[in-house]
Amino acid sequence: MSLLSTVAAISTPPAAGGISVIRISGEKAIDVAEKLFVSFGKRRVSEMAGHTCAYGRIVAGGQTLDDVLLTVFRAPKSYTGEDTVEISCHGGIFVTRRILREVISAGAEPASAGEFTKRAFLNGKLSLTQAEAVADIISAEGESALESANMMREGALFKNIHKVSDRLVGLLGGLAAWTDYPDEDIPETSDGEIEAALCDCRESLAKIIRDYDSGKIFREGINSVIIGCPNVGKSTLMNALLGFERSIVTPTAGTTRDVVEESLRLGDVVLRISDTAGLRESEDEVERLGVRLAEKALERAELVFLVLDGSRELSGDDLELLERTKNRRRIIVVNKCDLPKKINDEYIKDENILSVSAKEGLGLEKIREAVYRIWNLAGYAEVPTVFANERQKLCCDRALGHIEGALGALRSGETLDAVTVCIDSAAGALLELTGERATEAVVNDVFGRFCVGK
Ligand code: GDP
Repeated sequence: MSLLSTVAAISTPPAAGGISVIRISGEKAIDVAEKLFVSFGKRRVSEMAGHTCAYGRIVAGGQTLDDVLLTVFRAPKSYTGEDTVEISCHGGIFVTRRILREVISAGAEPASAGEFTKRAFLNGKLSLTQAEAVADIISAEGESALESANMMREGALFKNIHKVSDRLVGLLGGLAAWTDYPDEDIPETSDGEIEAALCDCRESLAKIIRDYDSGKIFREGINSVIIGCPNVGKSTLMNALLGFERSIVTPTAGTTRDVVEESLRLGDVVLRISDTAGLRESEDEVERLGVRLAEKALERAELVFLVLDGSRELSGDDLELLERTKNRRRIIVVNKCDLPKKINDEYIKDENILSVSAKEGLGLEKIREAVYRIWNLAGYAEVPTVFANERQKLCCDRALGHIEGALGALRSGETLDAVTVCIDSAAGALLELTGERATEAVVNDVFGRFCVGK
């Protein structure tokens, strides 16, 4: 690692503020800072212990640029694991850039995007999943997203994946020892033991993947749409839900002719709901536009609320909508339960059919239960501890595929070599996930998404 150059960047946003921070990391960080910093207490940067600050000024070519606070971190006790100096100067864009320029002239190189975190990873201070969590923390827009990113940074995913990869690597070790040293008295791992271990690993990965899907729901919310024939009570239901839950997150208004979108919170989950103008053919140009938007909203939605009027019999249009959405994640809301029931709903076979009165606010709490049931969220007392992004999920999917392959090979009596190859690939996919065996391309791709200065 000492072969790496010394890099520097502005770590605060490119905007005027109270303070800005310029970060320098690498073997020459202390030297570079010493060339520019004049302490009011006459302390030399090279004499400062790690985790200490000094007050002074940045002087370049005899000119004072700014009064600053300088903090020294000594390797390996720094974010990057290298000697690091942070200069906190006044938060003007010009002065900050000017100091950075002097830092570069004094021997540092400009850091690329994510370079500090990449060094932290390369120096073993962070796993790849923790590094990705740092990016998530920076971009977190809500409480749940921040909470999950912080959990990830604490290594929850890393620990869970590690348990599985350790198991696979242990299995590989046993298999290799036995085949490579046939003369030694190494006990053979029985097919039964291998199978049991693989099944355990498969179960653990399947759970992590399930958590990912639920986690995504907690983090990103659910796109949903309310559809139904005219006058069944769609708008009333939407208003009732908003009023009932009382915590509108981000209302974005449209007109009644097109799609009205609102967000509301159901327990820990944000539901983004579109109330559509209806999906019927129309002669009216404006209405046709509304219908097209409604079609799009329906296509996009992850959850469909199909509203029916319980006080009248099912119409042909109702049946058409029921048929159209039968393979979707949906909740059938039979509305107007305060009126005498006329609907012939006994033929509708659906687990999620709820009787409510939007107008009277009856039965609305069942909607939350249904959403939790559909996404299997009930088991989560809080936001799941394991979150992943697409990259991590793909690695996990691949590992699971290889474990299935290994189990298949084992059960169909193929050679242990074939089984070993599959287990090795599964372990490889998991080590790529945590970054322990990630290719340079993967690492560069992860850090390329960071901002400069992080
Ligand atoms: P939309 O065209 O599907 O959006 O239907 P609206 O929400 O505009 O409702 C149509 C009519 O049904 C209005 O007169 C509502 O007051 C009435 N309505 C809606 N929900 C209920 C309900 O739960 N019970 C009763 N009795 N009337 C309702």
